[in-house]
Amino acid sequence: MRILLLGPPGGGKGTQSKFLMEKFNIPQISTGDMLRAHVKKNTELGKKAKEFMNKGELVTDSLILDMMEVRFKDNDCKNGYILDGFPRTFPQSEFLLTFLEQNKLSLDIIFDFKIDFRIVQERIMERSKLQKRSDDSIDVIKVRLDKYIQETYPVSQVFGSKFADKYKVIDASKQILEIQKELMKILKKVEN
Ligand code: ADP
Repeated sequence: MRILLLGPPGGGKGTQSKFLMEKFNIPQISTGDMLRAHVKKNTELGKKAKEFMNKGELVTDSLILDMMEVRFKDNDCKNGYILDGFPRTFPQSEFLLTFLEQNKLSLDIIFDFKIDFRIVQERIMERSKLQKRSDDSIDVIKVRLDKYIQETYPVSQVFGSKFADKYKVIDASKQILEIQKELMKILKKVEN
């Protein structure tokens, strides 16, 4: 099963990824988590990515694409994955589409999480009290949302038209369990 999650930061993609991961026994590929792991280990990539991340800017496409090229080769990707936070730009979506085509693979479902930006801001501020993330301050959140509108929203429009039958808009303002139910309802139809 290959699942693509789209939607703004703080929309709940990470939470639902964890749920889907267990349900389908496939890995969550979160470029944000991967980058944070690099920052923590202070790798060359981590050093470069950190500056962009702290400002809420997107990390350069070439860095992301090099990282994903390696990740897709991992053994655990054989039976599918949940893409969370990738692709975020046109070059990234081109890379994904070409990769899928070359390997004769396809996406099974695309969930686009729709949510009011005011709710997102509140959620991220709430989360920042529990988890210390250097990009969870109000100013940086604003930049992240701007980047979403400028760079990532147009990408979701492309997926919406290219994969019209597989593209599902999810109301991400609902409760976690309600969203889980909705995702499962849609996925049951995909499996049959
Ligand atoms: P959120 O979606 O809540 O902003 P993520 O954990 O997905 O959080 O990403 C955190 C930061 O990591 C982003 O603001 C950006 O700097 C960087 N990042 C993550 N994924 C990508 C990507 N696909 N392309 C460019 N930058 C990325």
